[in-house]
Amino acid sequence: MNQRERLIERFLRYVRVDTTADPNTDRYPSSEGQIALGQILRGELAALGLEDVVHDSHGLVWGRVPGNVPDAPTILLNAHLDTSPEASGKCNPNRIDRYDGGSIELATGDRLTIENTPELASLVGHTLITTDGTSLLGGDDKAGVAAIMEIVHRLKEDPNLEHGPVQVLFTCDEEIGRGTSRIERGQIHAVAGYTLDGGGAGTIDDETFSADQATVRFVGRNTHPSVGKGKMINAIRGAAQFLSMMPSATDSPETTEGREGFLHPYHIEGGVAEAKVLVLLRSFDTAMLTNYASLLKAHAESVMHAIPGLMVQVEIAQQYRNMADGIRRRPETVELAEEAFRECGYAFRRDRIRGGTDGALLTAMGIPTPNLSVGQYNIHSTREFASIDQMEQAVEHGIRLLKLWSRKSILA
Ligand SMILES: [Zn+2]
Repeated sequence: MNQRERLIERFLRYVRVDTTADPNTDRYPSSEGQIALGQILRGELAALGLEDVVHDSHGLVWGRVPGNVPDAPTILLNAHLDTSPEASGKCNPNRIDRYDGGSIELATGDRLTIENTPELASLVGHTLITTDGTSLLGGDDKAGVAAIMEIVHRLKEDPNLEHGPVQVLFTCDEEIGRGTSRIERGQIHAVAGYTLDGGGAGTIDDETFSADQATVRFVGRNTHPSVGKGKMINAIRGAAQFLSMMPSATDSPETTEGREGFLHPYHIEGGVAEAKVLVLLRSFDTAMLTNYASLLKAHAESVMHAIPGLMVQVEIAQQYRNMADGIRRRPETVELAEEAFRECGYAFRRDRIRGGTDGALLTAMGIPTPNLSVGQYNIHSTREFASIDQMEQAVEHGIRLLKLWSRKSILA
């Protein structure tokens, strides 16, 4: 079997394992499927002869390819095993060779067309993998898992490929914000890393949002409504007033794009006695989060003023920070990725993620970890598909990138 067919079979094998993350449990990992896939990968890494292959008690998969260039720095490659809970993860994949540019019929009657997915226009001739329309594909992020497995397989079978030590890490529960929660800094021996978890081809994401979450609690006083006069303090009215003061024409997900940040009220619950609103704070400019928090606290004050006796508390929890700050400390992480694209002859661009990645948290731990594209499309959707040709490009790019890093001596 040639390397390309091997990559396809690998990808199909991984997407058939349902690894849907479950946000409604505290278990780690949150679903059995992630353990099942981790077990498969542990076996495959061991069979390839990697060192320090471990499927740890949290379900994370680790391995290491020793370098063949003296004094070369260790580089981390990581991807996540879980898939989004936004659609079923029970995937029945469908392979389309030499895509002809036409509409792709899914078994459910839904179809992928250039109208609903303009990116298809640039994928004519590619091998595409779709679902049958009843589930997501899980190319987010099994495309990354398959590409990393293929990279290390090729390094092991071809001793002429120059590279330093490569640390492999497959994480769990990235889609529910827990991708790095069971990682200790000391477990990572790399000077830099790359998350393979991006859409399309040729993109290097070196920025993410900085992110906080606000929990706003409204504590009122309930009475029987018949005797509410002068006594009842309705927390729901407080929450409603608070929400009506939130920016909506600007600084909201519905009205922003590119570099603009937002405040996003995304959950509300409660009754007369007590209510709770959850708000996401997002900005590429970390300092802006403080302004957003002050705004929420000012609104809380005015609501307390308007409804005497009501207590409103705003609690801010840090989620993750823009990885640009950490990557700037080691700019060659992005420069070498660009150089590798140039050497492969592929077009490339830098971009930013209006969200977070495992890489943002790894970067915050001191390991600059930009995100690279790996052929994903329409993620978190039953119209999800992946381009094998772009996965193959990611593999070639990754191998070239490891070679460039191997020329950077850790002694320099
Ligand atoms: Zn992902």
